[in-house]
Amino acid sequence: MKWLFALLAAGVTAMVVAQTLQGPKRISLIVTGRFVITQNDARRVLSPGSVAIDGDTIVAVDAPEAIARQFAAADTISAVDDIVLPGLINTHTHAPMVMYRGLADDLALMDWLNQYIFPAEAKTVSPEMVRVGTRLAALEMIESGTTAYADMYYFEEEIAKATRDAGLRGVLGETIIQFPVADAKTPAEGLARAERFIKEFKDDVLIVPSVAPHAMYTNDSATLLASAALGKKYGVPVLIHLAETEDELRISRQQHQMTPAAYLESIGFWGPRMLAAHGVWVDDADIAILKRRGVAVSHNPESNMKLASGTAPVAKYLKEAVPLGLGTDGAASNNDLDMFEAMRQASFLAKHATHDPTAVPARTALDLATRGGARALGMEQLIGSLEPGRRADLITVSVAAARQTPLYDPVSHLVYTTRGDDVRTTIVNGKVLMRDRKVRTLDRAAVIADANRLAASVREAVGK
Ligand SMILES: [Zn+2]
Repeated sequence: MKWLFALLAAGVTAMVVAQTLQGPKRISLIVTGRFVITQNDARRVLSPGSVAIDGDTIVAVDAPEAIARQFAAADTISAVDDIVLPGLINTHTHAPMVMYRGLADDLALMDWLNQYIFPAEAKTVSPEMVRVGTRLAALEMIESGTTAYADMYYFEEEIAKATRDAGLRGVLGETIIQFPVADAKTPAEGLARAERFIKEFKDDVLIVPSVAPHAMYTNDSATLLASAALGKKYGVPVLIHLAETEDELRISRQQHQMTPAAYLESIGFWGPRMLAAHGVWVDDADIAILKRRGVAVSHNPESNMKLASGTAPVAKYLKEAVPLGLGTDGAASNNDLDMFEAMRQASFLAKHATHDPTAVPARTALDLATRGGARALGMEQLIGSLEPGRRADLITVSVAAARQTPLYDPVSHLVYTTRGDDVRTTIVNGKVLMRDRKVRTLDRAAVIADANRLAASVREAVGK
């Protein structure tokens, strides 16, 4: 019997020696935090925790000692005072519109669009404006913890290049609109441009090219259907504004005797991979259509409040399991791209509107900005949670400020006290875009100087 134990002990020793000789697996990066909020299906939270990253992919999430035993990383980020969480996903914006930030406030959507935004765009949108604006937006997003965003604008190829250079992930839609705009005289020209754009960026690592028919009231049915067909042809997302204001509902009822969602259903517009921004003025039948067609919705509480557009029925979308993400909308109607604020306002607006303090709790708001956004973009297998096999899109948030003290529940802090400025580290696709608040992919001073220089021409265009 004794010799058997000796033999077994020798065997175990040999195994340990073999493992030690082989050593821990070499990987590119380990991020360690006071908390790791995984946002996986079980909503696992580690305290403390580490995320092991190799190249563009998360390979393990576990206690720091367990990760240290298994892996040796070329680089480590010890954010031991921070919360580590998935990067936030902004499902609706118009990145270059940061150039119109604060240009015209306190107006209803239709006045704001027709008197200020459309005229300013007619005079100032150019490839250069889009490039400078996107770089400014990207800087703001990286600094405030957004790692992926959906965009609808013009010269989208310039937005794609600037987004890729900044290292962000983008679902970027070339706008299709009935009237002449800076990058297309006709919707047919816009569609041709969109197709070229899709072909150019179809296989990009960070960019998902898409088609963005502006709305049902700014396009005729033929243009809407051609946009949907283009999306289907290439299997790319289709982004549209839907039922944003009561005016849109009124126009739709007058012209088509139907709600916007029902009108789009009646012409056969809805299909797979569609994302509708706002979805404020919808009834139960509209929600049933969106659910049946698998259409995702982007909820933009701050823009809806600022433009007094109304309140989206978030509780109903959640109850019907309509894929739902959060967005900031363009900075001109927000006026920033801070997704922490979007989470907080989504929660507050729902409580205020329903007189129910349990509506959109912190956990739900965080879900909407992470895994909800990923699902809305059709990317839930890639991003939105920290688990092995997912792309390494993550951020760390400092909770050292007076404002963050004391800390009983990290999820409560992320939604109710954190601001974009609290983000310390931003990582996309395994690449560190910001470390200790220093952005590595953009020259901060140059980006801001370029934007200020371009603002002079915007000011001139609207006589301000
Ligand atoms: Zn919008």
